[in-house]
Amino acid sequence: MTLEITSLATMRATVHQWRAAGERIALVPTMGALHAGHLALVKHAQTLADRVIVSIFVNPAQFGPNEDFARYPRPLADDLAALRSVGADAAWLPEVATMYPQGFTTTIHVAGVSEGLCGTSRPGHFDGVATVVAKLFLQVQPDIALFGEKDYQQLCVIKRLVNDLNLNIKVVGVPTIREADGLALSSRNRYLSADERAIAPHLQAVLQETAEAIRIGIPVAAALARGIETLRARGFARVDYLELRGEDSLASQESYTPPARLLCAAWLGTTRLIDNLKL
Ligand code: AMP
Repeated sequence: MTLEITSLATMRATVHQWRAAGERIALVPTMGALHAGHLALVKHAQTLADRVIVSIFVNPAQFGPNEDFARYPRPLADDLAALRSVGADAAWLPEVATMYPQGFTTTIHVAGVSEGLCGTSRPGHFDGVATVVAKLFLQVQPDIALFGEKDYQQLCVIKRLVNDLNLNIKVVGVPTIREADGLALSSRNRYLSADERAIAPHLQAVLQETAEAIRIGIPVAAALARGIETLRARGFARVDYLELRGEDSLASQESYTPPARLLCAAWLGTTRLIDNLKL
């Protein structure tokens, strides 16, 4: 059975009861529109904890004024059915008024790792993410929290937040789940037209080609410039970034020093896709 919890008092009482029974609790934060990538996080959580709580909250604070907050999919009944099908213990469904009570003014800013990459193309995005995730952590007080590598910069921001604030939570990153053709699963893939969907797998393909170029010794700047050119040629009208960064620090790498990660964001029509690849 998957409990459907909408009040903070009930959420806290439920966790209190589980913890009193000695159970280990995992949290999987999501914005809903659940797909197999989200469910992989839940299944991984089940191997690490006795109870798995999945939060669903489309967080207005992490969307810019011209972004897709209004059209973001909210198929709640399907999401709850999916959570039941994998045996999640609870869905935490906070109200906007719980997350942002009247007069709310607090923001958490994680400097450094939140700068550049999506931090440049989406100003304020990671403040919104860090603030809502900190709130979810304080509401649920899990032992473990799981995040996808699909949103790699986000994972680094959360790790920094937990470390900096001495939160007693183990943050676990889970590899990206993909379609057979390599496209990373995303709630935003449903925005793609048939033509755009056919182009979309080239995002991962170009990351792989760029990684190969860097591995065989082509200078990083040249490999990245070539990758951006290739993305445009294959139909991505706009490329926000294609960069090589340190795996943990996210520091820019002008020359390749493993472990490193290639990260990319690019647009198909009105849909922004992101992906990354470990070198
Ligand atoms: P979202 O609902 O998009 O905010 O994502 C919720 C969590 O699921 C985040 O930790 C994401 O990184 C993770 N996630 C999203 N897509 C995937 C995927 N294809 N594979 C693995 N994790 C994912």
